[in-house]
Amino acid sequence: MQNEQIHLTQQQPAWWLIIAEGQMLVCHGAQPVPFGCLDELPFPELDLTEHIVIGEFDGYPLVLVRMSDANQDMGLGEYKGLRYILGKVPDPLFNLVGRGFQIVNFLDTHRFCGQCGQPMQRIDWELAMKCFQCGHRCYPRVSPCIIVAIRKGKQILLANHVRHNKPGQEIYTTLAGFTEAGETLEQCVEREVYEEAGIKVKNIRYIKSQPWPFPHSLMMGFIADYAEGELTIDTNELNDARWFNFDDLPLLPPHGTIARLLIEKVRQRCL
Ligand SMILES: [Zn+2]
Repeated sequence: MQNEQIHLTQQQPAWWLIIAEGQMLVCHGAQPVPFGCLDELPFPELDLTEHIVIGEFDGYPLVLVRMSDANQDMGLGEYKGLRYILGKVPDPLFNLVGRGFQIVNFLDTHRFCGQCGQPMQRIDWELAMKCFQCGHRCYPRVSPCIIVAIRKGKQILLANHVRHNKPGQEIYTTLAGFTEAGETLEQCVEREVYEEAGIKVKNIRYIKSQPWPFPHSLMMGFIADYAEGELTIDTNELNDARWFNFDDLPLLPPHGTIARLLIEKVRQRCL
């Protein structure tokens, strides 16, 4: 990963990812990510000495700047969590902003060496933290995670997860789980489905991936067919899991999520 330090001028148009206390500055209006030249934007003294260029969207750099106080009036909008812009901006811009959040998370959680305990320093030739005492080097963490839509005839298995249990708004979605060390993605699909729902699956097909920066997952989406077994729910993870007919679906996760994309793909094939 390149750690580009470009020289920002007052007239350089850019996207601005201004993060304070785990939240980002968003503009009111249709386009929530601040865009423009520094001399047009009502930013107070932005400290650009520590800025990081996260990447480019639409030909312009996205510049990460950290502020200490999310209550400061920036005269432009307000601070919101990253989920606020999900579905409000194009996917590539969301992924870029998510990368910025992941980098902040990485820098904040790698201030000291995990090997010898000394302070770590950011190196300037790539995005990494290095301990100059023992040489240990760390890169932003990415945690692989499978997510799978399971088909049985004209039905789909959907579950209400413990974390989606707002009364009256019970979202039903696909099964998902983190890949364990030494495991292939296909083994992970089989294990997670068996652990959470007690069934075996077959015909596991990879569909698509989605970076999911909450805080550093990479969701890898699959579709699989039911093979055998009775639904047996892991109540630590799930409140409920059922086979749903496509003409009678419950409340689904929002568009823009890979879970929704997988559900729609299975639905299209079954109709
Ligand atoms: Zn060390």
